Amino acid sequence: MPAHILIVEDEPAIQTLIAANLRRAGHEVSAALDAETAQRQIREALPDLILLDWMLPGISGLEFARRLRADARSRSVPIIMLTARGEEADKVQGLEVGADDYITKPFSPRELLARIQAVLRRRQPQSTADAVETGGLRLDPVTHRVTARGDQLILGPTEFRLLHFLMTHPERVHTRAQLLDQVWGDHVFVEERTVDVHIRRLRAVLEPSRLDALVQTVRGSGYRFSAEIVPA
Ligand code: CA
Repeated sequence: MPAHILIVEDEPAIQTLIAANLRRAGHEVSAALDAETAQRQIREALPDLILLDWMLPGISGLEFARRLRADARSRSVPIIMLTARGEEADKVQGLEVGADDYITKPFSPRELLARIQAVLRRRQPQSTADAVETGGLRLDPVTHRVTARGDQLILGPTEFRLLHFLMTHPERVHTRAQLLDQVWGDHVFVEERTVDVHIRRLRAVLEPSRLDALVQTVRGSGYRFSAEIVPA
């Protein structure tokens, strides 16, 4: 499953090597040399997973993991700690602050990819049958009902699937290609601008209840569902 992975690693050679391996495996990669830069990137777009070096200049990887876990927006983003230390006490400390896994340098690209897949699988929303509710909008996949502040909305099947995907994957930017993958499935014959058409229809349905701002356009990137950063 391709994901957007943020690498926070202060050694450029290691960062480049990891990034190349992840891209080869089909992942979208962003990278930062320190926690402050990573924090700015996370504010822009929430990644699907963070590879976090333990020893960083400034804010340590451990402290950064603690801060990510304390923030409601980044609380559930999976974190894999990268470290040169192999001691059990460190591992426990990393897992205690909320890291999902821990990998000791040097590691093989294959091992890293396997760990990433395992963590991503574990973090998949448990059940797609669960109703989701955000910012006054409620979607029930079982009854196929969508309500905005209690009023029922009528959505087409594609808009329904699109909204369901967006609501279960909030606060991150999805490219049109990713949305086609996730919502349309096999999208070989579907053009990317099809996504824009359905996003427009979805917003039109949400507009009377003033919830259309939940579906945000991220210039040059794609779309994001967010209840927290509502643009003026
Ligand atoms: Ca380091």
